[in-house]
Amino acid sequence: MSRPYGYADNRTDIVEQEAAVIRRMAEHLTTGGHLRALATQLNDEHIPTASNSSWHPITIKRALTNPRIIGMADQDGELVPSATKPILDRDTYDKLVALFTDPARSKFTRTNGRVHLLSGGIARCGMCGSQLYANVSGDRPDQYRCSKRAQGGCGRIGIKAADLEAEVVERVLARLSDAVMRRELTKAMNELHAPNAAEKELGELESRLVALGEDYADGIIERATLKASTERIRQRIENVKLQAARREVLTDIPEPSAEQVVQWWEQASKRRQRDVVAALLDHVTVMPSQKRPLRGLNPDRLRWEWKSA
Ligand SMILES: [Zn+2]
Repeated sequence: MSRPYGYADNRTDIVEQEAAVIRRMAEHLTTGGHLRALATQLNDEHIPTASNSSWHPITIKRALTNPRIIGMADQDGELVPSATKPILDRDTYDKLVALFTDPARSKFTRTNGRVHLLSGGIARCGMCGSQLYANVSGDRPDQYRCSKRAQGGCGRIGIKAADLEAEVVERVLARLSDAVMRRELTKAMNELHAPNAAEKELGELESRLVALGEDYADGIIERATLKASTERIRQRIENVKLQAARREVLTDIPEPSAEQVVQWWEQASKRRQRDVVAALLDHVTVMPSQKRPLRGLNPDRLRWEWKSA
């Protein structure tokens, strides 16, 4: 894994030039600046990430929500002092974490169309154990809900889809960055995608082209990105056809640097993302909410059951 941004290879000493970038990013975001605009600015100025690639919203998020930058470490969800020298003060860090957990800002974990990340039994009801179904009702946000009694559920659990998906994505990406986990995952993916993999992937690539067009129409990506990505996808389609002829199944997940993994995730189709989640996460059980949190989701409601590595 690459070193954390802002720190030398010993992961403790500060790289002053990068610390300045972290302070600048924090300043930009806590004063109302936009995440995507910030990524574009940094890339335009040829300021690289720790692994020498370009910035994406999610890599900025990772850099700024790492407790290391306030000289702390995450120990089972609790922040404890560490040997690391701090770059930001606690106040600024707390503001950033609050900003990043505001679902309105998590553009990069948004649901796309009608494909749901946690369908097929990955999300379960904490009251009766049934699977939660993705559910869209009028202008209300998408929810994962336990079905009504008549359909076999108890109907008592519901959770905002964006909140639950953001929690899952966060944890899945952390696991994807781990080398041992990655090897296991590659194995699982190969099993998952045999033998109709090529055919399936072709379908995905086609729909990714459509999704790119929609993202461009929505103003989420720029023309240059659209062109580059379209070209990449067309090349990929050619590749997949070649591989299909050889009856070979390859996964296109990159080598395990956190940076590359999040970039891959951002570009993967929803279906592919869902396969990855299913390969790692057996299920997550959603418990009833005891009290309403100020914003977002109370993580205590979630019980995780990961597939073993
Ligand atoms: Zn239920």
